[in-house]
Amino acid sequence: MEIATFETKCHCGYTFDLPELSDMSYGEFLYFDSSGNGARYLCAINNQTWEYISTIIDSELKDTSLTKGIIIRNTLGEIADKININTTYVQKGVCPKCNSFVNSNTEIKKGIMEVEEMSFKQFQKYTDSEKRRIVTEFIKL
Ligand SMILES: [Zn+2]
Repeated sequence: MEIATFETKCHCGYTFDLPELSDMSYGEFLYFDSSGNGARYLCAINNQTWEYISTIIDSELKDTSLTKGIIIRNTLGEIADKININTTYVQKGVCPKCNSFVNSNTEIKKGIMEVEEMSFKQFQKYTDSEKRRIVTEFIKL
C-alpha cells in the first residue's frame, strides 16, 4: 500500500519521513513497530481477522460499548506477525532513532512510502480454542 509521508521531527532532534493516512481513510489504520522498524497498514473492511476478533468480543464482553473498535485495534497490534519477537505494534508514530512516540504532523509532505499490510499468519495457525484464549486474554486487560 502506497502511503504519503510527512516530515516529522522527534524531540531527540532526529528528522525523518513518517507515513500518515488521510482523514478520508475510513476503516484504515497505520501501526508502527515499537522498536522503530517501520509501519504496517491495516484495512478493517472485509478483514477476516478483524471480524473474528469482533465475534469473540461480542460473546465475551457484556459491555459492548464505544471501546470495542479500540479493543479490536489494540488486539490486532498484539497478534500481528512481528518483525522480531519483542516487538509490538502501536498506533502512534515511533522515532527510528530513539523509539519515542512522535506526534503526527501533516504540514510538510515529503513523498510516498510502500507500507506492507499487517499479516496474521502466526495467529491463523492456532486452533479456534487457542485463538479464543489469546484474544480473551487481551480483551480482559
Ligand atoms: Zn527520537
